[in-house]
Amino acid sequence: MKPYFATRFVKMSARIAVLVALLVSTLPCSCWAQITAIRAGKLVDPATGATSTNQVILVNGTKISAVGGNLAIPPGATVVDLSNATVLPGLVDAHTHLCILVRHEYDNGDYFFTTLIDSDALRGIEGVANARDMLASGFTTVRDVGNAGNYADSALRQAIEQGLVPGPTIINAGRIIAPYGGQFHLQPGRRELGEPEYFFADSRDEMRKAIRENVHYGAKVIKIVVDDQPYIYSVDDIRFIVQEAATVGLKVAAHCWTHAGAHNAAEAGVASIEHGFAMSDEDLALAKKNGVVLVGTEFTQLAEREVGAPGWHATMVDRLRRAYRIGVTMAFGTDTMFAYRGETRGTLAMMQIDSWVEAGVSAKDTLKAMIPNAVKLLGVDGERGAIRAGQAADIIATPENPLDDIQTLKHVAFVMKNGGVIRNDGAAGVR
Ligand SMILES: [Zn+2]
Repeated sequence: MKPYFATRFVKMSARIAVLVALLVSTLPCSCWAQITAIRAGKLVDPATGATSTNQVILVNGTKISAVGGNLAIPPGATVVDLSNATVLPGLVDAHTHLCILVRHEYDNGDYFFTTLIDSDALRGIEGVANARDMLASGFTTVRDVGNAGNYADSALRQAIEQGLVPGPTIINAGRIIAPYGGQFHLQPGRRELGEPEYFFADSRDEMRKAIRENVHYGAKVIKIVVDDQPYIYSVDDIRFIVQEAATVGLKVAAHCWTHAGAHNAAEAGVASIEHGFAMSDEDLALAKKNGVVLVGTEFTQLAEREVGAPGWHATMVDRLRRAYRIGVTMAFGTDTMFAYRGETRGTLAMMQIDSWVEAGVSAKDTLKAMIPNAVKLLGVDGERGAIRAGQAADIIATPENPLDDIQTLKHVAFVMKNGGVIRNDGAAGVR
């Protein structure tokens, strides 16, 4: 811009600013405070399993400003009447893959093909659709653990943070770090096809570099695959990765498919073991002792069929039952990657509560895994996961009290994210 025009532009901008300031000063303050008052017939605290009745939640901008039974509703506030519903904090899926969509007809049970067929751009767009659908089902926060199309997950997180598209708060892993080959079985003439889906890191230098690359391109958690090859990460390897990640303030999520892999991760003290289907009772006890959270991703029978894994459901439910009995801290994570006609990524993820019911986990403890345990694992417990003053206004409502009937979570009828109403089915949805 030439100096003359620049000077005129600055003067015009200054005049406009004065006019706007004058206009603002003549308006009542409630126009600017954006206060919403939610009348909650029942209000559930998932940390304690307590339900209080006839509460008012005041939301000012993006945050909750007050909660109580006798709160005066400020004049001019927008009132959301959920007096016939149960209100609770938004849910968390601690194991998602938003930027991949696996279809049987494409990949014949091997998602390596999906990563070859779908462009990074398409992966990003799938992420937008899946994020929207997860939020609509009541998941206001997710941890996205890789398989994300060359950092499409970082772009998706940025787009949501900038308000370009609706979606949950995302803690994303970027590029999964793994021993050579990652989760694929390559052939030597096409060895480059496994990357960038995975960062092959076998030496300490490669591990350090992989963490730094992830941080540089926007990862907020480090995801490793411990044991999908005959050679697996040792306890010392994992300890090194945990220490390196900690230097940049990140936690480590460890995919463990085998008994040996889960044992190494439990001993090394990762933040979370993902899957862990082959964990023995001794390893579950070791994870508990070392403060390792289990994100068990227990597939439903539908998921078992769709990903071509016969028999897994029973194994997973058995491990969930054992983990619950032993008392290892668990966070709800679904690993939902597949498409199914008539369902969304959100409704498919929510179905996974069936596995928790089948394993005999109480509604109270399932909710604990879905909210307080999960936000703590994700490191956002200071900001999200509770309905109290100062927290982000991530609020959902269900027709029934999920402490009485956990299945009501499949009928989330109201969703607020950062103070904005995403979904309100009104009288039709909330009885
Ligand atoms: Zn996964």
